[in-house]
Amino acid sequence: MSKSSQKVMIVGGNAGGATTATRLRRLDEEAEIVLLEKRNYISWANCGLPYFIGDVIESRKQLVVKSPEAIAERYDLDVRTNSEAIDIDPERKGILIEDREKGETYWESYDKLVLSPGAKAVMLPISGIDEVENLYALRDISDARSIKEVVQSSRVERALVIGGGFIGLEMTENIHEVGLKVSLVEMMDQVLPAMDPEMTSMLQNHLRNKGVDLHLEDRVTNFEQKDGMVKANLDSGSELESDLVVMATGVKPNVELAEKADLEIGESGGIRVDEFLETSKSDIYAIGDAIEVKNCTTGDHRHMPLAGPANRQARVVANNIAGSWEEYGCSSATFIMKVFSLTAARTGASEKVLKETGIDYEKSYTFSRSHVDYYPEADPMWIKLLFDPESGDIYGAQIVGDGGVDKRIDVLSAAIKSGLSVFQLRDLDLAYAPPYSSANDPVNVAGFVAENIVDGVVEVTHWHDVDSLDSESTLILDVRSDMERKEGQIEGSKHIPLNQLRDRLDEIPRDKKIVTHCNIGLRSYIASRILLQEGFEVENLSGGYGIYSAVRRDRGEDYPMMSCSIE
Ligand code: FAD
Repeated sequence: MSKSSQKVMIVGGNAGGATTATRLRRLDEEAEIVLLEKRNYISWANCGLPYFIGDVIESRKQLVVKSPEAIAERYDLDVRTNSEAIDIDPERKGILIEDREKGETYWESYDKLVLSPGAKAVMLPISGIDEVENLYALRDISDARSIKEVVQSSRVERALVIGGGFIGLEMTENIHEVGLKVSLVEMMDQVLPAMDPEMTSMLQNHLRNKGVDLHLEDRVTNFEQKDGMVKANLDSGSELESDLVVMATGVKPNVELAEKADLEIGESGGIRVDEFLETSKSDIYAIGDAIEVKNCTTGDHRHMPLAGPANRQARVVANNIAGSWEEYGCSSATFIMKVFSLTAARTGASEKVLKETGIDYEKSYTFSRSHVDYYPEADPMWIKLLFDPESGDIYGAQIVGDGGVDKRIDVLSAAIKSGLSVFQLRDLDLAYAPPYSSANDPVNVAGFVAENIVDGVVEVTHWHDVDSLDSESTLILDVRSDMERKEGQIEGSKHIPLNQLRDRLDEIPRDKKIVTHCNIGLRSYIASRILLQEGFEVENLSGGYGIYSAVRRDRGEDYPMMSCSIE
């Protein structure tokens, strides 16, 4: 990498754009670098916006990471705020810019152009939407400020959040935490569609426990605004009155400029780039929320609007403009988020995605604590692991819990990126002392369990199969204690506590398949090994009564919370 006299124009002054500019300057002192941003600030923390509304971040100033002047001076950049790129001429290598302050437009030439214009909020064309007085989508600081002003108004008591994805959930929590009554409407049968439904059952139960008025599989059909209040009518017939509506129905890539330049747009709607992040026209690169990226597990291209990938892509593009041809590779779309007192995280493919793409998989559920039980404040977590049933290659992982979820999802993300199998999870040499983990870290444990499944040491059945088991040919055997059994049980199951099993084998029919279960799947695994070696046909209920009952509670059924319930 060497100094050059090239002129690099960058569109978008936030995560992707600002990172490209500063990295490029560190590599090349001579390049002319122009950073165009249509807003009047750059390098701002959109991920912090919900927490600004919830008063966790108190000052708006904390949301602007660096001022345009500070960044321009430190990195010798030509930073132009209030400057919107409105057209591109790839043949002449020119970009048309509107100076929003002066109301003037002008062309500027480039040698290399980087597009990082982000994504925009999807606004559903709901009847009556134009009449709603306090309706916002959260994309930038001014949206956050407007929402905060409404939230802080003493007349405001109720809010409606439409959409239960990342932003919808963060907004629900933060608006609720500052004292408003929040209704959340989601058209799917689960929140956080990036995860699988049994994992989000815990989140849904938690949201209800916190007092959120949750409406799943429902949608707003129309709004009626009157006397400072809006009534939202739902498909189900429910009517929700609120003082504030937050539209969080997803984002789509910002591709207007790319379309004007006739750049190839992929099937997911994002700008198509090659492995070097160059678009279909030479010397035009694109990164961040505006592009689609190869998914590490499925190999197809998807829109994965997350800050980490945007920053890493920026680094690759800067390196490439400075002369080194580096490939970006793929993304596992790893994310983590706070949902009130819980943490939800995913890396790699979900079960839904594996099904959609026809990839054969198996799964395991493990319950662990963030560190040893005997050290104070050990937090529970459920880990779902998805893997190749033959090779054990890891496809994806999801975790719901509290403390310690962050480091486990990161270890699993690194494992997937490195192409590890469940067998290698067992061997990971992870740090341990009582305040931090257990001698067998939750990631090791997830590896042990998945390894047993791949090796055929245990066969498993899952929560969604339980209700369709035929009692003529299958017996569900509950091996928990008498007390646990009294608290709640799977209908039709037989009860023999694990410690009595060896003495009561004659009570178990030999002409039926036995499905063993306990609360989390550990004692029932021991039971399954005893029975298997006694000649029974056995499957273990992975995730046990814990996962099964969380799903049932989520469906409104009367199933008790257990010691392993996280909600
Ligand atoms: P952006 O950061 O959106 O930047 C695009 C910039 O381009 C904007 O400043 C825009 O004004 C400017 N622009 C657009 N068009 C033009 C034009 N024609 N001319 C000039 N300028 C233009 N991700 C996570 O990984 N974790 C989180 O917790 C998280 N939380 C989030 C919370 C909220 C409320 C939001 C809105 C996003 C969150 N994200 C989170 C997503 C993350 O912020 C984005 O993935 C990331 O910012 C993408 O970077 P980008 O550079 O592609 O786009």
